[in-house]
Amino acid sequence: MLQEQEVHAAEMERTFIAIKPDGVQRGLIAEIISRFERKGFKLVAIKIVVPSKGFAQKHYHDLKERPFFNGLCDFLSSGPVVAMVWEGEGVIKYGRKLIGATDPQKSEPGTIRGDLAIVVGRNIIHGSDGPETAKDEIKLWFKPEELVSYSSNAEKWIYGVN
Ligand code: UDP
Ligand code: MG
Repeated sequence: MLQEQEVHAAEMERTFIAIKPDGVQRGLIAEIISRFERKGFKLVAIKIVVPSKGFAQKHYHDLKERPFFNGLCDFLSSGPVVAMVWEGEGVIKYGRKLIGATDPQKSEPGTIRGDLAIVVGRNIIHGSDGPETAKDEIKLWFKPEELVSYSSNAEKWIYGVN
C-alpha cells in the first residue's frame, strides 16, 4: 500500500505559466506570482526572457492556422516575458481557473484576467491547458537543470501530510 506521502508525491504536477510582455510592462509580476503563491502552489523555476519570434511560433504552434497567430507571436516576442513552472496538486487545471477565460470580457471577477485585463490580445498571462502541453511547454522554455525540486515547510500545512 502506498504511504500517504507517496500518494501526495504521485499527485504532484507541474505547469508552465508565463507573464506576457503586457503583464510585465504593467507592473503585474508580483501580483500574478502572489496569486499562485498564496494558493499554496510552489514555484520551481523562473526566469525573465525576451523570446525570439521563432521561439514564440514554437510556443504557439497549435495556433498557427489562426488569423491572430502572426500578431500574437509578434507580441509575445516584443519584450520581456516572465517564464515560470509551478508545482502542486491539480496545478494545471486550477492554474487555468486562477487565470480565467481567454477573453477577459468573459473571465470571472476574481480571476487574473477578470481582474486585470480587458481585451483578448492583451490578456497578460499564459498557462498550459493540459498535462501534455504542460510537459511540452516546460521542456521548450526550461532546461531540466533549471527546475528546482525542494520541499517547503508549508507543504504539511497546505496538504495535511506529515
Ligand atoms: N488570442 C487572440 N485572439 C483570439 C484568441 C486568442 O489574440 O481570438 C490570443 C490570446 O492572447 C490568447 C492566446 O492567443 O491568450 C492563445 O490562445 P488560446 O486559445 O490558447 O488561449 P489561452 O490558452 O491563452 O487562454
Ligand atoms: Mg492556450
